[in-house]
Amino acid sequence: MSSESRVKNTRSQILLTIVIVPTLLLAAATAIIGYNLILSSLSQQVEKEMMTTAAMTADTIDAIFPGDYKLVDDGGLRLYKGETDITQDNELVDRPKGITDLEVSLIYKDTRILTTIKDKYDSRIVGTGLADQVNQKLGTSEEGILYKKTLINKSNYFTYYYPLFNSDGSFAGALEICYPHDRVSILAWRPVMIITGMILAVMILLVYLIYVNSSGTDKALKKLIKFTEDAEAGHDGVELDQEILARDDEYGIIAQSVVKMHRSLRDMMDKDALTKLYNRRSANRMLDLVRSHYESDGIPYSIAIGDIDFFKKFNDTYGHDVGDEVLMIVASILQKNMMPIGFASRWGGEEFLLVFDRMELTAAVKKLHEIADEIREQELDYDGNTIKITMSFGIASRPELDQDDLIKIADEKLYEAKENGRNRIVADITEEAQ
Ligand code: GH3
Ligand code: MG
Ligand code: MG
Repeated sequence: MSSESRVKNTRSQILLTIVIVPTLLLAAATAIIGYNLILSSLSQQVEKEMMTTAAMTADTIDAIFPGDYKLVDDGGLRLYKGETDITQDNELVDRPKGITDLEVSLIYKDTRILTTIKDKYDSRIVGTGLADQVNQKLGTSEEGILYKKTLINKSNYFTYYYPLFNSDGSFAGALEICYPHDRVSILAWRPVMIITGMILAVMILLVYLIYVNSSGTDKALKKLIKFTEDAEAGHDGVELDQEILARDDEYGIIAQSVVKMHRSLRDMMDKDALTKLYNRRSANRMLDLVRSHYESDGIPYSIAIGDIDFFKKFNDTYGHDVGDEVLMIVASILQKNMMPIGFASRWGGEEFLLVFDRMELTAAVKKLHEIADEIREQELDYDGNTIKITMSFGIASRPELDQDDLIKIADEKLYEAKENGRNRIVADITEEAQ
């Protein structure tokens, strides 16, 4: 299964959820709570204004037209205030509306006589009645009554009824002051929309920033996952993008550790623990590569097998640790000399395989003499004794042969070197070459 389908929730999806969900909840809570708070504060303001306007209007009417309200039937019903017929005196309600922008109606008993509220034909909605329970309540209320929602002429209003009494204490009617509910809602919505809009704008900015940041980290993670999968599958030459390794965040550190771990594992698999040279398994793989060079460009390669002389004696005389040290000294000389021209590997206990890439026998023998000389020159001090090391080598270059056969020939030459007194190199000189 590919890494993409295995990852159920990418880091950026989780981050986006963490940002979007709470922000939307915050925006919704702000909208609901904010709207109700502002609405209630605006309502209080409107209510105060309605009460003042009602009292002022009632006082003004009383001052202009002293006397009681009464209905007179002189062929048609007319409302008098004191001695004056005010049935058509719209100024009485229009003036306070002009000052306060509130709708004002004068109601006699339960009938609207004067009003600033107009219908869709621009006619004043006089003659309309009051609900019975409003009327009943008004008759017994000195204070006036406030309604948060009253349906008048198909629109909702905040309404305040200010009761009017005649001089004998009898209920005359009311001044009705209204403020359209819609207008308050719009006023309450405006700041809420601004705050909610700002919250949503911050959310969009955060989402954008997360997206920009995550696209880089997601890419880095994908490459890291691909690298570990390729490494796990044992693919050759798996490399991790330099860009990730150069990152200065946690991903860079993880990437560097993963690469180090991969190298250590590869070394454990491919190299000998004591000498750090290639082991026999990886030497065979590398020998295939050297042979493929010969097959593509025709330049012969050479191989040598070397064996430390009387190595058992080092172990027996000075101990196993000294033996190990001798192996490490020899290995480092072989490694240093062979690295630029091929490779050295630990073939067995104290036996080494040297491969000279694109190098024919004469040049390889010359190089091998230099190596053997360098080993001979080593002096290892132990308990006042100087330990000298020598090696025997068999070397051959028959690139046309199968690798195993070629190694066998080099091995035979090594045997000859041992037989002929050790501390020497025996080359496989073919008859044509002699
Ligand atoms: P020759 O000149 O004929 O090669 O004689 P030799 O003593 O070198 O060869 P022999 O095969 O008799 O002995 C090789 C010894 O190498 C035997 C084994 O205990 C030792 N040996 C193999 N691997 C290691 C190692 O990793 N460390 C040490 N200290 N000794 C090792
Ligand atoms: Mg030996
Ligand atoms: Mg041996």
